[in-house]
Amino acid sequence: WAKSDGRARWAQYDPERAALDMTRFTLTATLAAGLERDEFEVEYQPIVRLDDGAVAGVEALVRWDHPTLGRLGPDRFIEVAEETGAIVPLGRHVLREACRRAARWNAENPGADLFVSVNLAVRQAHDPALVSDVADILADTGLPPHLLQLELTESALLGPAGRPVDAIGALADLGIRIAVDDFGTGYSNLGYLPRLPLHSLKLAGVLVEGLRSPTAGASRIVTSLVALAHALGLTVTGEGVETPAQAARLRTAGCDTAQGWLYARPAPWDAVVAALGRTRPRR
Ligand code: C2E
Ligand code: MG
Ligand code: MG
Ligand code: MG
Repeated sequence: WAKSDGRARWAQYDPERAALDMTRFTLTATLAAGLERDEFEVEYQPIVRLDDGAVAGVEALVRWDHPTLGRLGPDRFIEVAEETGAIVPLGRHVLREACRRAARWNAENPGADLFVSVNLAVRQAHDPALVSDVADILADTGLPPHLLQLELTESALLGPAGRPVDAIGALADLGIRIAVDDFGTGYSNLGYLPRLPLHSLKLAGVLVEGLRSPTAGASRIVTSLVALAHALGLTVTGEGVETPAQAARLRTAGCDTAQGWLYARPAPWDAVVAALGRTRPRR
């Protein structure tokens, strides 16, 4: 039946499509209960300084231990959570958990100043309670604000008309850092950059992917973006670094920090900080 006459195909039953829809339905139906049953785990991935290899911070990445579907990565459920609005309580849970871990660890390791970076979804960025939620979580956990970074993609940072969302200024006023996630994949209009109280840019994995082979073009783009960021007083993190060659090219481009499987995969907090103790250079 799957004889592909392209035009007629949309109307036909597609078992793969149906399975996807079914999974999506299941995820939608079980998200809220999953949150109540505490099925969401936060893993952390080190963000490493390219000059000396020290771990400067960690990014919090959520996972879902689903009772029937097994462990799911965020790419499977964040979109669904955005659609249902469940991302707001889920995001708050991740933020609280990440701040709690980082606050305790920094209290036990004075002077280490390990920051934690938490992703914010579009819906959270527009949530009127966001700023007070963040302020409450900082107060409750005792995490110094400068050790919290929030990552927003351009679509979360900028509203439909390309206007920055209102919360950004108030978040920066709390003393936390704001990073642009997946930079280089979104808008080509860069006019918003100097108008926002940003701390750093995270170069999208696709740009870092281009640094695998010695292609002049890819390196020039990254070098230019790093120069642009530095000219605006922002630091730069390269994402998705898998090979030493990519790390070397990022370093040559002047990039400040990097994260990726080359250094460490995302892992539970205890595993990450245990490895930290071994790699952190003496000061
Ligand atoms: P992101 O914020 O850009 O996070 C980086 C993604 O790259 C993570 O995928 C990470 O595990 C993956 N990664 C790290 N190193 C490497 C590498 O060397 N190679 C490759 N190929 N990938 C690498 P993950 O954990 O699946 O998360 C996917 C996306 O889901 C994140 O992209 C972020 O946009 C979103 N996300 C994750 N956690 C949260 C959360 O708590 N809240 C919200 N709103 N979004 C989240
Ligand atoms: Mg991120
Ligand atoms: Mg990213
Ligand atoms: Mg992303």
